[in-house]
Amino acid sequence: MARRKFIAGNWKMNKTAAEGAALVKELKEKLGGCASGCCCSGPDVVVCPPFTTAPAVAAEAKGSCIQVGSQNIHWADNGAFTGELSGAMLKDIPVTYAIIGHSERRQYFGETDDTVNKRTKAALKAGLKPIVCIGELLAEREAGQTNSVCERQARAGLAGLTADDMTTVVVAYEPVWAIGTGKVASNEQAQEVHAFVRSILKDLFGAAVADATRILYGGSMNAANAAGLLAQPDIDGGLIGGASLKAADFAAIVAAAK
Ligand code: PEP
Repeated sequence: MARRKFIAGNWKMNKTAAEGAALVKELKEKLGGCASGCCCSGPDVVVCPPFTTAPAVAAEAKGSCIQVGSQNIHWADNGAFTGELSGAMLKDIPVTYAIIGHSERRQYFGETDDTVNKRTKAALKAGLKPIVCIGELLAEREAGQTNSVCERQARAGLAGLTADDMTTVVVAYEPVWAIGTGKVASNEQAQEVHAFVRSILKDLFGAAVADATRILYGGSMNAANAAGLLAQPDIDGGLIGGASLKAADFAAIVAAAK
């Protein structure tokens, strides 16, 4: 089955509202409109700005092929969860996607496989599309644990989901040692893990779901290496950090996905 490619930018803690809107404006100019294939024949294009920047970005992106996502979501509808945002609040912005379980959340903010699962279910309940991140640390790769770590994270993060839920879920394989380090996984290394993750999806949800689910690669993807990675049979797109902060670089990755 042909899976539509998917290119998402994770802006992390970068860009004020004015800077974010300016970046989207420039990106729109570089991508061109629907007539140039941006939304009709090209990949899905998503940007995930910080929460405070998201309303201005969503306003600027409105009517274009650029969709907006959040970088997190809380599992509760409301309550005493200082610093968190619920699905309903995110829908207010409005955003369409939510990154969940990014390695920086796992590393610095105590995210666990269990909270990833709760956030994923909350996103689905709110009608948001989860981008569920998995990936091994350098020490885990060196210890030969890449597959077991990814399997554990995928099974736990997606636990309790139905095949129907999976129609809106995107999985991002992000080897932690490649994030923000400039050390990209080779095309072969990335493809090998993507194929393995797809086999786990098959075991969990069946062949049709495994075949239809987009699995993104994340970790120092840029304009120079995107084409090689995106040409791999099980790599359906990218989750891009640093290179998503410059319109020209991000647009070049989108072009590589066409
Ligand atoms: C990320 O933050 O998800 C990421 C992949 O970052 P970078 O592209 O900068 O490695």
